[in-house]
Amino acid sequence: MKIAVAKGDGIGPEIMSAVLKIFDANKVPLEYEMVDMGKWVFDKGFSNGMTPEAQQTIERLGVLFKGPMETPKGKGVKSVNVTARKTWNTYANKRVFQTLHGVDTVFSKAGIPIDITVVRENIEDTYGGIEHMLTQDVALSRRFITRPGSLQVIRYAFEMARQKKARRITCSHKANIMKITDGLFLDCFYEVAKEYPELKADDVIVDDLCMKLVTRPDTFDVVVLTNLQGDIVSDLCAGLVGGLGFAPSANIGDHICIFEAVHGTAPDIAGKNIANPTALLLSGFAMLRHLGLTENAAVIENALLYTLEQGVHTGDFGDKSKPSLNTTEFADAIISNFGKTPQLNAKQLIPNKPGTPTPLKLERNTMLVTKEVENEKIIGVDMFIESNEQPDAIAKKCQRHAGVKFNLINISNRGTQVWPTGSVYTNLVNQYNVRFESIDTYPLNQQDVIGLYVSLSGDFKIPSLELLNMWGDKKSYSSAAGQ
Ligand code: NAD
Repeated sequence: MKIAVAKGDGIGPEIMSAVLKIFDANKVPLEYEMVDMGKWVFDKGFSNGMTPEAQQTIERLGVLFKGPMETPKGKGVKSVNVTARKTWNTYANKRVFQTLHGVDTVFSKAGIPIDITVVRENIEDTYGGIEHMLTQDVALSRRFITRPGSLQVIRYAFEMARQKKARRITCSHKANIMKITDGLFLDCFYEVAKEYPELKADDVIVDDLCMKLVTRPDTFDVVVLTNLQGDIVSDLCAGLVGGLGFAPSANIGDHICIFEAVHGTAPDIAGKNIANPTALLLSGFAMLRHLGLTENAAVIENALLYTLEQGVHTGDFGDKSKPSLNTTEFADAIISNFGKTPQLNAKQLIPNKPGTPTPLKLERNTMLVTKEVENEKIIGVDMFIESNEQPDAIAKKCQRHAGVKFNLINISNRGTQVWPTGSVYTNLVNQYNVRFESIDTYPLNQQDVIGLYVSLSGDFKIPSLELLNMWGDKKSYSSAAGQ
């Protein structure tokens, strides 16, 4: 079986060599095709950080094992790590955080075991990176949460929770504030939960989750979140089990999967052969299990756990009164412990059943198929205008443009209503949302909206607009605070 390997930048080549040495010593039945990705590829002029040959190899083999990579700063290029996840639709980012015997934390000292799997949506949310300056003072980021994208990652989380016989699966969100975007994610969660009646499914608001993770981390098992919240919460969980040196990550897609450590290139210690290879090794176990190499994964993981239990450590963790090993010595220590069984969390040896990682051929994109919308009608429009006038003056001008089809409903600033009612204490910036709705629920069309845009543009610059749709009796838009 062949996989693609990218060594990465900074400490990447050192920790990748250590992990592959451990795999070879265990006779892991894998062949590696090295691919060119990372900083030096950007420097050669490939704006996505990978050569076309690397892309072809990864698409042919279906599995990429990668070291951390640096994105050049200030060149306007996007992170190769994020590009790879998005290009190949690795929609689920799975990160497992477990107490490791020998890695002291406040929780291990208090006897509180941690075994949390975070599943983070990996494509959508603000990570689309679709951003605009609407005025000199106002920046906008578009946050896409989609129904097919949410269902895909949530279904993966439930399937994984079923396989691991999870005690609990929790959706974390901020749907109390972001009622439409996080509300959609939460609805999808409970829709999928119905297909898994044996699992205890619940939800918790993300700020409350953070508090509970640091007070009672042992009460959580599988947690599924949107992209940005998942990114933050998973680093918090890394801290609970001893830091980034122990945080593995699997980026799962239907065709291509990427396995990597959560940490970066650690430029401060690169080239010194002192980096901790554990996070990349833990990511490697997820990859071996994904490929059906369960026995190799268990033997090496038991050796790692045994090594940690003996107090063997690299410089970034462990008992400082005992000398630390460098990266190569640490790998050798693990190799010398093959066949040993750790006291805690010993992994069962399940015979290998190699699967085929060959990617499927895509004929059509199933995510484009969506449910039919019944009774959709445009009932208004939000015009996002630039102005440094006061709300009353803006309202007078807008009313002149409303014509016979539109009513001016309200004006808000940063999401808070400032006209027809509001407070003088509400601070204003030079970008307002002016909401128009149709008179007498007269059904509007896009030409009506364009007519209003043209008329209004005589008085204001309008950098952006959004249609107000009704689907049956359901509004597809939010209200302003105080409306
Ligand atoms: P970092 O994770 O590289 O380093 C943070 C701190 O943790 C440093 O003190 C570092 O020495 C230490 N550290 C990290 N990994 C370690 C290990 N295996 N062993 C011992 N100590 C370790 O984060 P950063 O400094 O914010 O980022 C450096 C570069 O890495 C940036 O260019 C960033 O874009 C990139 N990065 C890449 C990835 C990825 O490839 N997936 C992820 C995060 C950051």
